[in-house]
Amino acid sequence: MTIKRIFQPVTTDLGDIVEKYRPQLEPFEAIYRRLHATPELSSQEEKTAAVAAAHLENLGFKVHTKIGGHGVAGVLRNGPGKTVLLRADMDGLPVLEKTGLTYASTKRMVDYDGVEKPTMHACGHDTHVTSLMAAATVLYSSRAHWSGTLICVFQPAEEHLNGAQAMVDDGLYDKIPKPDMVLGQHVMRMKTGTVTVLAGPILTASDSFSVRIYGRGGHGSMPHNCIDPIVIGCSLVSRLQTIVSREVTPGELAVVTCGSIHSGDAENVIPDFLDLKLNVRTYSPEIRERVLGALHRIIEAECQASGAVEKPTIKHTFSSPSTVNDGAAVEKLKESFNPYFKDRMMESKPSTASEDFSILATAVGAPYVYWNFGGVDAEKWEDAKARGKLEELPSNHSPFFAPVIHPTLKTAIDAMSLAALTFFH
Ligand SMILES: [Zn+2]
Ligand SMILES: [Zn+2]
Repeated sequence: MTIKRIFQPVTTDLGDIVEKYRPQLEPFEAIYRRLHATPELSSQEEKTAAVAAAHLENLGFKVHTKIGGHGVAGVLRNGPGKTVLLRADMDGLPVLEKTGLTYASTKRMVDYDGVEKPTMHACGHDTHVTSLMAAATVLYSSRAHWSGTLICVFQPAEEHLNGAQAMVDDGLYDKIPKPDMVLGQHVMRMKTGTVTVLAGPILTASDSFSVRIYGRGGHGSMPHNCIDPIVIGCSLVSRLQTIVSREVTPGELAVVTCGSIHSGDAENVIPDFLDLKLNVRTYSPEIRERVLGALHRIIEAECQASGAVEKPTIKHTFSSPSTVNDGAAVEKLKESFNPYFKDRMMESKPSTASEDFSILATAVGAPYVYWNFGGVDAEKWEDAKARGKLEELPSNHSPFFAPVIHPTLKTAIDAMSLAALTFFH
């Protein structure tokens, strides 16, 4: 729907607009606790999506649902000007929550592989959903102070790095206007109340592989009649580490992780296959190509070296590009964030984590900015810092990951609202 514009005197300080129109936080805290207690696994975010969609509908957004799975996109047209897209991811993780919070999840869900698993908001996407809902309220209430088109996207399946592409492939940009700017944020293991941003590369590209190595099974006492896939697998796991140490230019970022290795069931049986799951993180496209090439070469050559009769299967299961923040947009954002967050505003360091957020922007050639906000209790943070033990604090994906509500949510709401206002002006 088109909102009738009621012009008010222009406030030059965007931070004042956020302060003035920020809603009461209690209802949003209640939503947060509820979302935290009822996380949904990737591609199954049906109820979370319904909560977000209902909120946008109540505000008068034109809401599209079930985009690329459970994706939601709400559009608020508010006169001429820029189109700004704000994105929150919605999915939880197959992790057994051990935070001890009164609103901890005890939920279990059947995952994509058919196995029932404990389910937890271990990456804090519940803070993203809640803060984007509240930011939508701030921007709706303050619509007399800006002009343009606001889009709020609630994205599914970030943890599988395929939800953004699924939304684009399902015609997201046939349903909603193409954005001039795309904005996203993530809660991280940082002191609550802090915000960090960085121009240029901030998150790596991620590539995942499922590998099966074929041997020849038989009696454990007769290895000479068999081809042992466990020996091949063990050699392979060590050899794959030489990609980073021996093939990548020292100082260039690359990570190769073998996160899963499975083979066999009994001590006296040589199994006939072994399964590996691998993950690669890189920034530069050249390094990525080099690492992926080496990975294929080494897997095939190790199998050949052991006389494996069948070639291994190497399935590229997930792939996501690196996240590279637009330099000019980051400068503009800092002009709003620095005076507002003051000493709570810091520079990020490039991370080895990955995101599919950028696809929502690159699909239409739009610039984007992605920033982080902290969720760690201030006292716990200072204590760990004083002891030089910050790494002991639970990180994203830990069963103990528990962002404190105050002032984490308020910081995220303010950052998202302020960023949107910045690019409408
Ligand atoms: Zn995550
Ligand atoms: Zn995440």
